[in-house]
Amino acid sequence: MVSVTGRPLNILIIEDHKDMADTLSDLLETLGYQTAIADSAENAVEYMASEMPDLVLLDLGLPDMDGMSLLSKVRANSFVPLIVVSGAGGDRDRVNALENGADDFIAKPFSNAELIARVRALMRRVELTPQSDTRIVVGRLELDIPHRRATMRGKKIHLTPIEYALLHTLMKNAGNVVTYDELLRAVWGEGYTGDFSVLRVNISRLRQKIEDDPRVPVYIITIPGQGYHMPAVI
Ligand code: CA
Repeated sequence: MVSVTGRPLNILIIEDHKDMADTLSDLLETLGYQTAIADSAENAVEYMASEMPDLVLLDLGLPDMDGMSLLSKVRANSFVPLIVVSGAGGDRDRVNALENGADDFIAKPFSNAELIARVRALMRRVELTPQSDTRIVVGRLELDIPHRRATMRGKKIHLTPIEYALLHTLMKNAGNVVTYDELLRAVWGEGYTGDFSVLRVNISRLRQKIEDDPRVPVYIITIPGQGYHMPAVI
């Protein structure tokens, strides 16, 4: 059983293709997760109205609603860790999904090992709560670590788990350059095979949320060819 404080972690699989959904469900349950299957957007919305899963696998091809629209709908009121599963696998789908708030993206056909790695990497980010620091302040930006809460000028910023992890890593290292590899390792875990576009899109989304003018960032500065830099004093 995979659990946090004794409660098994619950994964919602949103997939209308029954064989695919059952295969995923069997695989994840073998690993100790609990799973629920929603075979339509309507059922998914209904499920999430009463039950909050610990992670969502969202297939983009659904019978009653475009998966990307469902993603926006979910993100409008939840920051549940979410992996988009796409049959198309094109770069546009990938970027669209990440821009709409997906934490990760996996294209069909994928191997069991690949899916397990993605699920575990994301779960690790969610479960990770550093014990040492409780609060980091950079400029007007503040991170309340025990509550995983970020504020800008005292106003709460809504962040996905990946955005939070990115911000935390950059703030912890304020004053230093954090390389692309260091960020990928810190946020997605050792051996993550995703590409830099995932990182770029998440950084861009983070800038939209924290920068006064995201085109002229002062908190997250790109160091071309190296990584990102958050100045210690802003
Ligand atoms: Ca489908």
